[in-house]
Amino acid sequence: MTGDGASDHVVLPHGIRPSDGRFGSGPSRVRPEAVAALAGAADGYLGTSHRRPGVRQVVGRLRDGFRELFALPPDWEVVLGNGGATGLWDCLGFGLIRRRSQHLAFGEFSAKFARAVQTVPHLEAPQIIEAPFGTHPEPVPAEVDVYALTHNETSTGVQMPLRRPPGVGAADGLVAVDATSGAGGLRWDPAEVDVYYFSPQKCFAADGGLWVACCSPAALERISEIGDSGRWCPPSLSLPLAVKNSAANQTYNTPALATVFLTLETVEWMCANGGLEWAAGRCDASAETIYSWAEASDYAEPFVTDVAKRSHVVATIDVDADVADAGRIATELRTNGIVDTESYRALGRNQLRISLFPAIPPGDVAALCACIDHIVARL
Ligand SMILES: *Cc1c(COP(=O)(O)O)cnc(C)c1O
Repeated sequence: MTGDGASDHVVLPHGIRPSDGRFGSGPSRVRPEAVAALAGAADGYLGTSHRRPGVRQVVGRLRDGFRELFALPPDWEVVLGNGGATGLWDCLGFGLIRRRSQHLAFGEFSAKFARAVQTVPHLEAPQIIEAPFGTHPEPVPAEVDVYALTHNETSTGVQMPLRRPPGVGAADGLVAVDATSGAGGLRWDPAEVDVYYFSPQKCFAADGGLWVACCSPAALERISEIGDSGRWCPPSLSLPLAVKNSAANQTYNTPALATVFLTLETVEWMCANGGLEWAAGRCDASAETIYSWAEASDYAEPFVTDVAKRSHVVATIDVDADVADAGRIATELRTNGIVDTESYRALGRNQLRISLFPAIPPGDVAALCACIDHIVARL
C-alpha cells in the first residue's frame, strides 16, 4: 500500500518500470515504429483495393518475407486467408485431413482444435493424445493422415520440438503445426513439418484476423487431392481457393489491410536484424531473465518443471498463495499501466502469464520482474 490515503494501490516508481506496459500473449505489444510506419503509408495504402498492385505488392513482400525468415525450401508456398488460426482449423477439417487426424492435446488451444475436428461429419473421430498441463505428449505413429502438433501451447507456457513421428514420412501422414504463438520466436526445421500455421497478433506483433500457412509440396498435393475429391466445402473455408488467391498475392475475400501491413513491418524488422535466429535469441534472453528470476525468488517459480519444455515465448509463473494472490499482483500491475499478465483462466492456478515475444525488449522483462518484486513486498 502507498499509505498516502489517496489510493489503495501500489504506485511503481518510474525508474523501475518497463518502457512499455504490454505483456499480453495476444493481441500482444505492437511496436510503435510499426504503427508510425502504417500512419505514414496510410494515404496511399489504407482504403485502397486489395486487388490492385499497391496492396498486392505488400502481400507479395509479406509472403517473400516469411520464406526468408523461415528459410523455406523453394517448393513451399505461403498461403494466407481470413479468420485467424481458429478459422484455419475449420479449413483443415475440410481440406487437409483426409480421414482421421491425431492431436496432441496439452492445453486450451491444442484441445480446441481437437474438439473442432471431433464434430466434422465427413471425418472419423480423431485420435487425441493428452498430457497433463505443464507438459506435452509426443506424436505416435498411427493410422492417421494428419499429425496435429502445437509449437507453443499459449495457455500453459509449454513449447515442444517439432519432429515427425518416428518412421513416419510425409507420404504416410502430414505434420500440421499450430505455431500461432511460436512462429517468429521459436526455431523449427521445415524438413520436419508440412503445414506451419499461425495468426499474426502474437510474435508478429500485428493485429488479428489473418491466418498464414506455410505449406510443403506434400501438403499442397493433399489440398488439391481433397479439393478434387468432390467433398463439399464452403468457399470461405476452401484451401484450394486460398492457395490459388495467395499465388496471386491476394486473399479470397478482403483482408484487414492494417494487419497485413503491421505483419510485414515485423517480418522485415526481424529479417533486417538477423532473421529468425536473432528473433529467437531475443526470446531466449527474455526466458533466461524471467525463469532465473523466478527460480531465485522465494515466492515465485516456473510452472513448467522440465526446463526443455519451458516456453521461450510465453512464461507461466506460479506464485506462492501464502505470500500473494497472483490476480492481485496482475491488478496492481494493471493500475500502473502494465497489462495482461493474468494467467489463462481455465488453468485455475495462482499464476502470472507473461509474453516474451520478440517485440518485447529483454530489458523490459527484467524491469517487469523488478516491478513484481516491488508490488509483492508491499502487499
Ligand atoms: C491465439 C492462439 C490461437 C487462436 O488464434 P486466433 O487468431 O484467435 O484464431 C490458436 N492457437 C494458439 C496456439 C494460439 O496461441
